[in-house]
Amino acid sequence: MVVVMKPGSTKQQVEHVCKLVRELGLKDHVIEGTERTVVAVIGDDRNKDRSAFESVEGVDRVVPILAPYKMASREVKKERSVVPLILGQKGGATAGGKKVAVIAGPCSVESKSQLMDIAQAVKAGGAVGLRGGAFKPRTNPYSFQGLAEKGLELLATAREATGLAVVTEVMAVEQVPLVAKYADVLQVGARNMQNFNLLSAVGEQPKPVLLKRGMSATLEEFLLAAEYILSRGNQNVMLCERGIRTYEEYVRNTLALAAVPALQRASHLPVIVDPSQGTGKSYLVDSMCRASVAAGADGLIIEVHNDPEHALTDGAQSITPLMFNDMMKAVQRIAVAVDREM
Ligand code: PEP
Ligand code: MN
Repeated sequence: MVVVMKPGSTKQQVEHVCKLVRELGLKDHVIEGTERTVVAVIGDDRNKDRSAFESVEGVDRVVPILAPYKMASREVKKERSVVPLILGQKGGATAGGKKVAVIAGPCSVESKSQLMDIAQAVKAGGAVGLRGGAFKPRTNPYSFQGLAEKGLELLATAREATGLAVVTEVMAVEQVPLVAKYADVLQVGARNMQNFNLLSAVGEQPKPVLLKRGMSATLEEFLLAAEYILSRGNQNVMLCERGIRTYEEYVRNTLALAAVPALQRASHLPVIVDPSQGTGKSYLVDSMCRASVAAGADGLIIEVHNDPEHALTDGAQSITPLMFNDMMKAVQRIAVAVDREM
């Protein structure tokens, strides 16, 4: 349930409601809106007496929450969340506001010159974030697994040179402190969307999290995965649609763009689209970027490589810096048409 306070309710009244919630063995979570404050009650409240809250001073009404995910739900928070890409940076890039956040870079960090070239190019093209995997989840154990800490160091160097926010994957609970030391945004990959220990671990540290949809996950499972992170205290969660596994073979994954408005209807969290994993084909990336922004995406995460033919991972879906530039110009026009900015 959500306890909706009256406009102008006092801090003491809100605190009193929180105390009552805790007395019931439930968790309180205060959300301060522009007009009024609400207290989200986390936990199984089905057997609790909701009406008791209605007579408490300062309380307007009590609303049951129907969705199984609570903190991720729009029932709890109507306004869209704006997530900073660099925590604590004033005036820095965000996702979820008017501006569409573009994160671009190689699938994997391969070398200093590769990363620097690409970082400079995507920065010049208008990206605000730099992606690049240092820990790579690979189907084949003999495939390139990433440069690990060396890759993280290179990402940090590229951030220093460009000011881009670093977005990189964390694959395991024990990697969280190391990755969080270098990264601005921690990516939880599709294959780990239901690694509940990892979700809790990234929820217990403060850096923003980019959560990718599992390739066979329903939207409800996706939002429940986000709920794990939120319920551990980290409010800076971005949802990433990256395509799902279907019978189709002309693409690597089927990019489910209807998920963008569907997620935004169900949740206040920003929605980012990954058209690179989402299609697996570089020739499809440009149109899917345009379609994503037209559908209301709050951001894009795109694989860009200066030499896709020799990329160590995902070359077939990587666009070149030149293609990235052209795409950005095209997307800019779409953004204006749907009342967004780039
Ligand atoms: C990636 O971003 O390179 C990646 C492996 O993504 P996903 O987890 O969506 O497959
Ligand atoms: Mn990739």
